[in-house]
Amino acid sequence: MHRIVFLGPPGAGKGTQALVLARELGIPHLSTGDLLRAAVAAKTPLGHEADGYMRSGRLVPDGLVLGILGERLESADAREGFILDGFPRNLAQAETLERRTQLDRVISFEIPAEELVRRLSARRVCPLCQSVYNLVSRPPRTPGRCDRDGAELLQRPDDRPEAVATRLEVYSVQTAPLLEFYRRKGLLRALDASGVPDEVTRHLRSLLG
Ligand code: AMP
Repeated sequence: MHRIVFLGPPGAGKGTQALVLARELGIPHLSTGDLLRAAVAAKTPLGHEADGYMRSGRLVPDGLVLGILGERLESADAREGFILDGFPRNLAQAETLERRTQLDRVISFEIPAEELVRRLSARRVCPLCQSVYNLVSRPPRTPGRCDRDGAELLQRPDDRPEAVATRLEVYSVQTAPLLEFYRRKGLLRALDASGVPDEVTRHLRSLLG
């Protein structure tokens, strides 16, 4: 079974890898960040409440995040496995997850902090199809426009420098302790996430095989 958690700081490439691996393995990619951003865009009450936390780079309260993850973990399409990307992010969330499901692997995306800042400042996203670009390593064909639909690419509000500093701090204080939590359970595998995406995917396959 592939019940997998991707753990790692913002900008480590969790979303990029989850997209590829979830397709290969035929399992859903569950990103709490994507679910929250969709709620913000759809202007739901939950999205409205989450927006301020996300813009500043702080964690959204656990109750809201669990609300949005909802029954997805137990739903039919997740029966053969799932990739959780961006959840859990603190000990309380990890304990809640433990009560709801059993995990097979936790992958720790490892990468130097300077590289994270470089990646996050160069990230641009398409507001229509959510495709992710990098101005340095994966630029769009036409500057500033999405290859798929031509929409004007945007920077995520939380990829601005002030929010990036908060997110890295939040990661090291609240999320990094989960590494030890999962190491003790024998679930943790380290992934060198500093290479180009294809290289990282190859290494990831070997850890999941
Ligand atoms: P991400 O796309 O995973 O970088 O998440 C973007 C933002 O959404 C984070 O900085 C948090 O504000 C919020 N968020 C995503 N997942 C969680 C979570 N598991 N717990 C709390 N906040 C979250």
